[in-house]
This record gives sequence, C-alpha cells and structure tokens, in this order.
Amino acid sequence: MKIRENVNISTLTTMRLGGAARYVIEVETEDDVPEAYTFASERRLPVYVLGCGSNIIGRDKGFNGVIIVNKIMGMGIYSEEEDGRIELYANSGELLDDFVKYSTDLGFSGIEALSAVPGTVGAAPVQNVGAYGQDISQTIISVRAYDVLLEEFVEILKTDMELSYRHSIFNSGKTVGRYFITKVVVGLRRGELKPPFYNSLQRYLDENDIHEYSPDTIRKAVRAVRESKLPDPAEIASSGSFFKNVYLTTDEEIKAAEAKGIPVWDGGKIPAGWLIENAGLKGMVFHGMRVCDKASLVLINESARDYADLDAARKEIIERVREKFGYTLEQEPMELGE
Ligand SMILES: Cc1cc2nc3c(=O)[nH]c(=O)nc-3n(C[C@H](O)[C@H](O)[C@H](O)COP(=O)(O)OP(=O)(O)OC[C@H]3O[C@@H](n4cnc5c(N)ncnc54)[C@H](O)[C@@H]3O)c2cc1C
Repeated sequence: MKIRENVNISTLTTMRLGGAARYVIEVETEDDVPEAYTFASERRLPVYVLGCGSNIIGRDKGFNGVIIVNKIMGMGIYSEEEDGRIELYANSGELLDDFVKYSTDLGFSGIEALSAVPGTVGAAPVQNVGAYGQDISQTIISVRAYDVLLEEFVEILKTDMELSYRHSIFNSGKTVGRYFITKVVVGLRRGELKPPFYNSLQRYLDENDIHEYSPDTIRKAVRAVRESKLPDPAEIASSGSFFKNVYLTTDEEIKAAEAKGIPVWDGGKIPAGWLIENAGLKGMVFHGMRVCDKASLVLINESARDYADLDAARKEIIERVREKFGYTLEQEPMELGE
C-alpha cells in the first residue's frame, strides 16, 4: 500500500483539472482495501475511489480526504461449461481493454465492443460502461466488493446492481460510496456475433469488406473506429463523452422531437452529440474547452486554466442546445472535490 500526500487531482484524471488531494493511497491487494479505509477513518477523512480517473472531473479546491487508487491486478477463468459458455474474472484494477483482449484471445464473445474504452474493470459496472451496441449489463454476472458499511467483503449479483444507461447502485442513491469493487465476473460465449452491428461499426466492416465476425475481428474493428474519432487520453485531455444522451419516455415527446426533425433512435434516444453538432457547436472553443470536431459529444481540455473555465464552457454549451432544441443536457462524468 503506497501513501502519498498533497497530490493534484489533475494528475490522476484524464481531464487534467483539479486541486490537491490530502492523501492518495494505491491499493494492490484486497487486504489493502480495509486498511486504506481504516487509515481514512482514523483521521476522520472522507474517501473517494479512483481507477484511471477517465470519468471524473476534479474541482479547483481539491479534496480534503483520501483518494484510494485501485491497482488490484489479476484475471483468469472462473468456470467453464462444455456448451461453449465461460465465466471470466478480472480483479478490478486491470484495464478493461486488457480484460477484453484476454477474452477475445481465448475466442469468447460478449465484451469485444467494449475494446479501447479507457479505465479499469472495477469502474465498468459503476456507470454500466457501454459502446458500439454492448454494455457491461449484458454479460456481467457478479462483483466482489468491500462493503464499507458492513466492513466485510460481499458478493453482489447483477440483479441487485440496478444497471441501466449510465446508472447503477454504485453511482446512484444511498449506496454511492458504499462498495469498493475488487473483482468482476462476466459470462461469455464461444462463437461469432451476428450482424447487423452498431451503425458506424457496420459501416467500417462493409467499407473494409470484412465478413468474418470473430470476437478478435470485431475488437480490431472497434479499435479502428474509435481511433479514427475519439481522443487518446494519454495525449489529449478529455473525459470522453461529456454529456448523456437524451431519453424520451412518452409518445408525445417522441412525436414532438420528430416533428422538429430531431432523430430519435431505439424508441426514445436522442444522441446528445447530434444536438451539439446541430446547434452549430462542433469544433468551437469555449473558455479553453473544445467541442471535439470528430465527436461532438467529447469536450477536450485544450487550455482551460481551471474547473471554473470548464464550468463556464459547460453552461454556454447547455444553454445553446436548450435555446435551439429545448432539451437540457446532463453531464456524464462525476466530480471530485470542492
Ligand atoms: C476518450 C474517452 C473515451 C471514453 N469512451 C467511453 C465509452 O465508449 N463508453 C463508456 O461507457 N465510457 C467511456 N468513457 C468513460 C470512461 O472510460 C468510463 O467511465 C470508465 O469506466 C472509467 O473507468 P476509470 O477506471 O477511469 O474510472 P474513474 O473515472 O476513476 O471512476 C469512475 C467512477 O467509478 C468509481 N469507481 C472506480 N473504480 C471503482 C471501484 N473499484 N469500486 C467502486 N467504485 C469505483 C469512481 O469512484 C467514480 O465514481 C470514455 C472516457 C474517455 C476519456
């Protein structure tokens, strides 16, 4: 267990904003986890859990508490059936992309569309990570987690996680901050996926004359599509999608949107990227934050001096979309600090 003091949140997050955290503890084993919480409680400090910080925005005054950074590594086969099903596990500090590669190298299908999503395995159920037609709710079976309230390790089954679009018990309601996820188990199948695939993925497959859909082929295709339009967090500061898609729930709302020429997908989804692009904001820079010109949903921190700049940029973008289309966009990444 490594303990550091006064570490800037900007160095721990891909948006690269945020003041100092009082303590940062890296945990490398399950046993480190209760120890790190004890360290915090002995000092009466709050705790925040971080993976790669790719869905977290740090605020300027920092965090007078303990950030626990997850480095618990390891993955393998949990159980294997004769009918082609397999359960794989990854400890939560593993990169999700490494876990996907592990599964596709073994020839199993179910999480290949999540290739190249930045971040750790442990964060995947938190916002029900999803991309190119798959999300983790389709394959996750259970997690093992340290329950801060009971002060013991527990198993949580998928049915108890309340997974839906960008939502789970881990990021919503009274259970926020209660669980430190240490292991994730997914159930996969041997064999190929069947087309049609998600629009941009299908386009790539067609354009490249690819008609073999092994998990590894789909993984490579997803990586190529993502590389062509999404910023690499190692080089460009962003949190990926900055706003959530808009979901309409009634027929009246859907008819009203379609009457205005707004695309409604899958029975109720308005892509937030479409709203931003069609509000004329693609490529524009607000207070040092650029609306990515290849993917309008992504905000890039080009030269924002601090969180206040991001806040001002966010307000302008939300206002411009509301003025043009009448929808209020909601932010996807969570925030840390004051
Ligand atoms: C360029 C880019 C592209 C992206 N594309 C996608 C995409 O296609 N689809 C998508 O869904 N997301 C995407 N994201 C967002 C991000 O990759 C995911 O949200 C990812 O799951 C975050 O992982 P992380 O380890 O960085 O989590 P962090 O940002 O460190 O944490 C995210 C949340 O999870 C909690 N958390 C983290 N680890 C644990 C744990 N072990 N136990 C309990 N709680 C935990 C944190 O407290 C926090 O609330 C993208 C981000 C970037 C920068």
